[in-house]
Amino acid sequence: MARRDRAPLGAHRVRPALTTVALATIGTQYVASLVALGQWTPFQALPGKLCRWQGPRVPARVAITFDDGPDPVVTPRVLDRLDELRIRATFFPLGSRAAHEPELVAEIARRGHVVGTHGYEHRHHLFRGPAWIRRDLARACETMHVAGFPPTWYRPAYGQATAATLLAARAMGLQTVLWSAWGREWVTRDPRDVAARIVRHLRPGAIVLLHDSDLFGPPGMWRTGLEALGVVGAEMDRRGLTPVTLDEMVL
Ligand SMILES: [Zn+2]
Repeated sequence: MARRDRAPLGAHRVRPALTTVALATIGTQYVASLVALGQWTPFQALPGKLCRWQGPRVPARVAITFDDGPDPVVTPRVLDRLDELRIRATFFPLGSRAAHEPELVAEIARRGHVVGTHGYEHRHHLFRGPAWIRRDLARACETMHVAGFPPTWYRPAYGQATAATLLAARAMGLQTVLWSAWGREWVTRDPRDVAARIVRHLRPGAIVLLHDSDLFGPPGMWRTGLEALGVVGAEMDRRGLTPVTLDEMVL
């Protein structure tokens, strides 16, 4: 019995090696995802070239950003409000929506804003493998290329980046960017709450997250964010913070 139970020669060495590979795979694929779920994230420790969550603190600039568009109803209203407030922002359109709204993407750029990409499909990367992530990102880039705006900036859906996300983005020449201030418009209908959350993290180099769509939140979410933007703009004026695009802030 003892002889039959004995493991084949070398098995003891193979098994720990397999375990190490499995743990490393899980680590690179999933650990990054788990820690990306919030602006407190240890992603903040990553070098800016790999994943940026704020810009330089000097000069005193702030980047306002919008995710999840373009939306034929919402995006034009956001653009009008930005004109009124004299804010130039950065938009992260979803490839699957931009493909149907190329003229709206062009209008965003025509008004002086920068256009990045939010990926093609709005999925959690936690549950997707590296091949899916690469395909999604390539499709998103292709869509923006066809629209005439090959992106520099990439924000993953839900701000959730795995190691595979960061590597795929780099390979495609994209700079991954998260945010340092958000209003969480989906948890309240009160613009004052949204503005207060953003203002709390408003400082030179801040990157502010808002949405020009309510596709992934409660109906009317965008309106709450847009109303909050007036308060945020006034506070920026008071503190001498200039709203700029990510290009102007970082490049
Ligand atoms: Zn999103």
